[in-house]
Amino acid sequence: MKKIVMKFGGTSVATGENIRHVASLVTQNAKNDCRIAVVVSALAGVTNTLIEIAEQAKKSDEKHIQAFTKELLDKHLATISTAMTSKQVQKEVTQITEKTIAELEKVLTGICYVGELTPKSKDYVLSFGERLSAPIVWGAIKDLKFETQCFTGKEAGIVTDSNFGEADPLMNFTTHLIHERLGPLLEKGVIPVVTGYIAANQDGIVTTVGRGGSDYTATILGVALGVDEVWIWTDVDGIMTTDPKIVPKAKMLPQLSYQEAAEMAIFGAKVMHPRALEPVIKENIPVRIRNVFHPENQGTLITKEPDAKATEVVKAVAMIKDVAMLNVSGAGMVGAPGSYAKVFDVLGKNNINVMMISTAVSEANISMIIRRGLLGRAISNLEIALLDRGGLVSEVSAEDDVAVIAVMGANMKGTLGVASRIFTTVARKGINIRMIAQGSSELNISFVVKEKDGTAVVRAIHEEFNLDKI
Ligand code: ASP
Ligand code: MG
Repeated sequence: MKKIVMKFGGTSVATGENIRHVASLVTQNAKNDCRIAVVVSALAGVTNTLIEIAEQAKKSDEKHIQAFTKELLDKHLATISTAMTSKQVQKEVTQITEKTIAELEKVLTGICYVGELTPKSKDYVLSFGERLSAPIVWGAIKDLKFETQCFTGKEAGIVTDSNFGEADPLMNFTTHLIHERLGPLLEKGVIPVVTGYIAANQDGIVTTVGRGGSDYTATILGVALGVDEVWIWTDVDGIMTTDPKIVPKAKMLPQLSYQEAAEMAIFGAKVMHPRALEPVIKENIPVRIRNVFHPENQGTLITKEPDAKATEVVKAVAMIKDVAMLNVSGAGMVGAPGSYAKVFDVLGKNNINVMMISTAVSEANISMIIRRGLLGRAISNLEIALLDRGGLVSEVSAEDDVAVIAVMGANMKGTLGVASRIFTTVARKGINIRMIAQGSSELNISFVVKEKDGTAVVRAIHEEFNLDKI
């Protein structure tokens, strides 16, 4: 009998009707001889509003708290009333919801009085989104007369480190606990419904595994339960060759390797949490991205070795906006061991993530790509720390009107002429390339152009590599 973990994202559970649809998808598959564990995200938009209210509470702004929790309660009550029909089940879920919201109100009031929002208390607040959505999905499944049981990530047995906001599972311990707690239920055909995104550290304190982390929860659960496949139900058909808003002819990719999919997740194809594939890669468990509104489509299947016949060198092209290019230059860096380390140390200590690096063998200049919003902080900190200190760095400059174009595909590895085709295509458009990087994995080539040229570049590359005919 097939075992599957199914994860439903925020839009899949945005309304009561959607949740009814989710419950019917789950139960239809259960009827077809499948053992299913369900992972759910918060209702669409709820996590963002929790962040906002937590920030307001920190500023000791108490007056908004009650209005907020009232609105949140109403939203969930309305969802409950359409997600299930049995008055008894509605009553049960309503009670859980009211109790949970009362707890949230206390937490927010506490933050308000202390006037401090630590990463730990922030995770606690953020956990409420999933703690409110999962019982509704549980109720909707129960409403269809299937045996089901609801768990928080902590109750299910997901134990993480204490890196609040981006926690990672302690996989051995987690596997043991999930196996013990959920395994027997699954065997009996009971459907466990687990909150995505949230877990707990070894002391039982709530952690979250990073924004969009329900996918990660799903693959963690999939590994622990030894399932046949993990299905990520979302609101798009699968992973596309590019953003269809840029190229309307963009195609859905039926198969990808783990490496390719991970690469695309990192490059902002917003279909998956970037770390979500880590657990399943080791165990070789396939992941399927499927459209909850078009379950008749097969979606994108992510496996170790997708169809060996595929010969396309380039499979997808993405544009990453909202970035800036930072240039650090100085003759003092030439031949000076440790000079790059000093630059990255300043950025690291100031919590500035470097997304892309390029430097020439002349060593007098490093170019980096960072998030645009961090640019001011990056320049000022580099200036304070490095300029005029023994002449290591003489200039820090930046361009904030750029975009990164990433061209991806596993078969680029060892294929000659891909880079030349890409750059010739860009040159033919009369567009200047500001910076280039290719990792030695050869899974992608990334380069930087002015943001205003980004759309034209993506279209030209999509066309050059015939991605609409994939
Ligand atoms: N609710 C969380 C978020 O919005 C986790 C998820 O949706 O996967 O980031
Ligand atoms: Mg989400």
